[in-house]
This record gives sequence, C-alpha cells and structure tokens, in this order.
Amino acid sequence: MTTIDNLPPLREVIARHDLRAKKQLGQNFLLDLNLTAKIARQAGDMSRCDVLEIGPGPGGLTRGLLAEGARHVLAIEKDARALPALQEIADRYPGRLTVIHGDALQIDPLAHLTPPIRVAANLPYNVGTELLIRWLTPPEWPPFWQSLTLMFQKEVAERIVAAPGSKTYGRLALLAQWRADARIVMTLPPEAFVPAPKVHSAVVHLTALSSPRYPADPAILSQVTAAAFNQRRKMLRASLRGLHPRIETLLEQAQIPPTARAEEIDLERFCRLARAVQAAPTAP
Ligand code: SAM
Repeated sequence: MTTIDNLPPLREVIARHDLRAKKQLGQNFLLDLNLTAKIARQAGDMSRCDVLEIGPGPGGLTRGLLAEGARHVLAIEKDARALPALQEIADRYPGRLTVIHGDALQIDPLAHLTPPIRVAANLPYNVGTELLIRWLTPPEWPPFWQSLTLMFQKEVAERIVAAPGSKTYGRLALLAQWRADARIVMTLPPEAFVPAPKVHSAVVHLTALSSPRYPADPAILSQVTAAAFNQRRKMLRASLRGLHPRIETLLEQAQIPPTARAEEIDLERFCRLARAVQAAPTAP
C-alpha cells in the first residue's frame, strides 16, 4: 500500500514497534493518513513556519504536518516506545523533524523553535486543556504562537467557541475569544481513533490576535469572570459582591444590569466591567 510519504502504514508501524495504546497516557491514535493530512491542513500554510506538535505518538499527525509542507516540526512525546517510529519519520524528512522525549507540561520548547510558530496536537484531553490555558495566558501578548490547531473532546471544543446565552459559555470561551479567533474546523466520530474513545472529538483552530479584542487587565478580567461563573446561577450583583463594595454602580457603569447572570454577558461587557473595577477606588 502506498502512503502519503512512502513510509509504512501506521498499523504496521504500531505492530512493529509494539505501540499498544496505554490508557494512562491518553493514547487514542489516528491511523488514517488522509485524515491526519486533512487535520494538518487546518493549521494553514506551514511552509514558512516551525510547528510545535505535542504528543506525536506513532506519528500520524506528524506525517500529515510534514507531508503538507511544514518547514520544521518539533515534536514532544512522553512515551519512549514511540521514539524509534518517530526516528524513521525524521530519516524520511532530513532536517525537518526534531523529537524531544519528555513531558510537554515540564518542557519549554521555545529554545528549539524559530518564529513564526504554529502549534498542532492531538493530545490527551486533560493535558490539552492545561496547555491551552497556558498558551492563552502568557506573561506578554502577542504570544509565541501564531495559531493553535488542537483536538479536544467535542464538549470541550464547544466550551472554547461558545457564545453568550449557551450552556457551554463560560471562562474558557472568554479566555480564548478575548485574544484569539476560535472556531471548530472538524468533528470526528469515536471510530476515527484506535482505540475508540467514548465521545466525539473536534479540532479547534485558534488564531492569535495582535492585541486583545477589548482592553482589560488580564488579572482583573480573570478575577471578574471567575467570581461571575463560579456562581453562574446567581445574579451578578450577588456573585460579584466580594469584588468591590460598590459593585452595583460598577455594573451600571459597564452597562450590565445588576440582576443579569454571568452567561448573558458578552466579552465586551466583561472587559468594560474589568476596567470599571480597576478604575474604582476601593474605599466606599
Ligand atoms: N498524535 C498521535 C495521533 O494523533 O495518533 C497520538 C495522539 S494520543 C491522543 C496522545 C499522545 O500524547 C500519546 O502519544 C501520548 O503518549 C502523548 N502524551 C501524553 N501525555 C503527554 C505529555 N504530558 N507530554 C507529551 N506527550 C504526551
């Protein structure tokens, strides 16, 4: 069988290197190289970019990224068993694939990357959400990445792109949409993976904005949205009471009815409220 890169099919690679999926590493592999090439294309033009891939496993998405023209891929993989399979891909694409063995939550990849940088990954969901939050909250904006193309559990993907008024709207949507454009570009059924997970998955593509959509101090915005959504059923004048002694006045300044609930308030108004909180003297 010919593949996109004349390397052996992934089933054969997995069998040869005895890469049986391990649950504790969140391993659900993509074996269809046409599908991984399609996911890679969602990352956009990679010909002048370095691509950071987290969790390459046997290398299905890695092969997609390289076949679709990524200038260079830096792949971080925790499972040592995958390294020989990844070395075969590196040999097929001389100078274009660097593999680091380690935990992506512990490694700072920036020393190994040359901008512009895109990120692409099919990760265990818990690690994926933690990394997404880190990538969205760097000390300075714009961040090191131009775009993120990430596989998530469909329910998490929906939380990232959610609009006000929907059940999935909350802090993750606000965080993602404040400084990035975020959209779901593909959905995948459980059978796309081996072994099949219990739930559907979706690929989210985020593009970094050059500056936040609306001005606000990141720490204050985070404080306001945490307080608002931690008690999402309460009216804002109650859930935000602890933030400021004159919170009702600040809500009105931000054109937010004090009786509204968090899930009705859009990003622009949350940013307005964060600015009002920042500008207000704390003494009553
Ligand atoms: N990218 C491959 C694919 O699409 O078939 C594998 C995807 S599998 C869902 C997740 C991969 O992430 C596994 O190879 C697993 O070993 C790796 N992984 C899990 N936790 C990791 C971590 N903390 N750092 C780096 N890789 C990790």
